[in-house]
Amino acid sequence: MRPNILIVEDEPAIADTIHYALETEGCKPLVVHAGAPALEILQKEKIDLIILDVGLPDITGFELCKQIRLTSAVPIIFLTARGQEIDRVVGLEIGGDDYVVKPFSPRELTARVKAVLRRMNSSQVSNGHRPAFEVLPDKRQIRYCGTPLELSRYEYDILATFIQRPGQVFTRERLMELVWEAPEASMDRTVDAHIKNLRAKLRAIRPEPDPIITHRGTGYALREAL
Ligand code: CA
Repeated sequence: MRPNILIVEDEPAIADTIHYALETEGCKPLVVHAGAPALEILQKEKIDLIILDVGLPDITGFELCKQIRLTSAVPIIFLTARGQEIDRVVGLEIGGDDYVVKPFSPRELTARVKAVLRRMNSSQVSNGHRPAFEVLPDKRQIRYCGTPLELSRYEYDILATFIQRPGQVFTRERLMELVWEAPEASMDRTVDAHIKNLRAKLRAIRPEPDPIITHRGTGYALREAL
């Protein structure tokens, strides 16, 4: 299976270099030069990974990533300009999987692409059949072991956030930022209460293991192997 890689990069020379390098490595690359066509393609095609330039003409790569993350957990590797340390941190925080700093060698980038794809495969097909969680964003529904969960709005958003990033630890503050519209009006205890409800609903479907891990003093994460 040749993975479909979407390259979102407005500098043609860089886009061509990446296209060539990925094609040589057995991928099926597709190039767009701005954010809007990237979103169009994502609706039509099955894309396995996105290489996303931070500086695009119509929208920043970060904004585009946020939009993509509303509906998709497709792996994203950011291309950032040299020395923009802040970009790398922000990129990973808002849901990027990795970043490569310009100028980069094609070999470095293809190595990162392969590493991210490997990581995705090992976490998704851990038990060789259907994943424990299935998200149906159109219906705002999540299935656990094939059974639809009855979730409140916040429970849905929290769980969907976890599912996009198995193993990643989210602090209560971060969950509030991601899920609540007015985080300052809520408190840490609210997150704990929703997590407790979520756990009860998951346990009702499958008693063991608890898919949500508590990191004491830090926050919560979804168990990686389910
Ligand atoms: Ca650019």
